[in-house]
Amino acid sequence: MSFALDEQQLQIQTLVRRVAREKVAPRANDIDRTAEYPHDMFELLRELGLFALPFPESYGGSGSTLSACVAVEELARVCYNTAYLLIVQWTPIGAILAAGTDEQKRRFLPALAAGKQKVSISVTEPQSGSDVAGIKTRARRVAGGYRISGAKIWCTGAPFANFIFIGAKTGDDDSRGSINLFAVERGAKGLEIGRKEEKMGARGVPSCPLFLENVFVPEENRLGEEGRGFKAVMETFNAARPVHGARGIGLAQGAIDHALQFVQNRHAFGQTVGNFQGIRWMLADMAMQTEAARGLVYRAAGMVDAGVSGGELAPFAAMAKCYATDVAMKVATDAVQLFGAAGISAEFPINRYMRDAKVLQIIEGTNQIQRNIIGNSLLGAVAKL
Ligand SMILES: Cc1cc2nc3c(=O)[nH]c(=O)nc-3n(C[C@H](O)[C@H](O)[C@H](O)COP(=O)(O)OP(=O)(O)OC[C@H]3O[C@@H](n4cnc5c(N)ncnc54)[C@H](O)[C@@H]3O)c2cc1C
Repeated sequence: MSFALDEQQLQIQTLVRRVAREKVAPRANDIDRTAEYPHDMFELLRELGLFALPFPESYGGSGSTLSACVAVEELARVCYNTAYLLIVQWTPIGAILAAGTDEQKRRFLPALAAGKQKVSISVTEPQSGSDVAGIKTRARRVAGGYRISGAKIWCTGAPFANFIFIGAKTGDDDSRGSINLFAVERGAKGLEIGRKEEKMGARGVPSCPLFLENVFVPEENRLGEEGRGFKAVMETFNAARPVHGARGIGLAQGAIDHALQFVQNRHAFGQTVGNFQGIRWMLADMAMQTEAARGLVYRAAGMVDAGVSGGELAPFAAMAKCYATDVAMKVATDAVQLFGAAGISAEFPINRYMRDAKVLQIIEGTNQIQRNIIGNSLLGAVAKL
């Protein structure tokens, strides 16, 4: 398997790197400080056609998860929140492709690829996050569809999504097999979007609770055969994980960029602190770890593009997400250390990188859960997850 970016991917890298530096970086601190959704950044990404990158060509996309990773990496290098706009839009692709009917694929995918519609996905509930099978939201069959009742938390992007894929159990069955995703339109009667969380990181894209009371959802909005939706949820997470890893390597690279600038300008003991060997070794470790993470992420993205899925993809997607986001946390923390007290001050952007990195270790399956997937795969038990 080759890890070199092709001509088109290099062009995307050059373009997004320039736009990130010129148009996104100047907005990054403000988005974090005000915690206001950056509509201007969504519009910029839409104009550039970046939402299309990982969607199949037959649905208006470019068909490349690796290109998607490259774009996310360049944006996350300067602004985690702007990179997040792409990821929120992409998270359900795997589920729609794995479980959607042809009609559903035609209905959802081109509109998302063009950035004409926005989407969110909501599985997490107050009593169950990692344990997806523990959700209690229930979809009861009625004439022409379902009525859904339950409560969700941490639904990212909900206030701006045209529709939200909501995980709910069907029938009276309580097993993981009874979970399906249902596309619920934002204005649906009985759906209330609660007040956004006050977050330490990922502040520019709101995460909100949802309250559902007898929300009617037509049959054609159920993703996958009834009682076979759990696989769709897992496919969603598998295919999206390399892209989350890409956000980790972008964030780590950005932290290194800031640290390099700082240590060359800060003086101590009659010289710049970048002259000290102890500092150079820290920088060398930060660069090595980031480069190693990049290799894992590109490999997992290449597997998605080659059509690898299910148990074969799961451990590699998990390694990419887990390692790259652990590296992001480690590198961002070391970068704050290199800044000294300035790293703690809100005057400098570096503490934003550390706060955002922490979020990455928790979302899309915590890094303990990623390690479970990898360990179970090593022991040949991935099918029982
Ligand atoms: C910024 C942000 C955005 C989010 N956006 C969304 C969204 O859009 N949609 C959505 O559905 N959810 C979203 N989430 C929720 C996220 O997916 C969950 O927080 C995550 O899955 C962890 O669940 P939890 O917080 O309930 O932790 P828990 O599952 O309660 O876990 C608590 C701790 O126990 C550990 N743990 C749990 N089980 C195991 C195990 N088997 N082995 C080892 N350790 C274990 C966890 O790793 C964690 O450290 C978001 C969360 C955040 C922070």
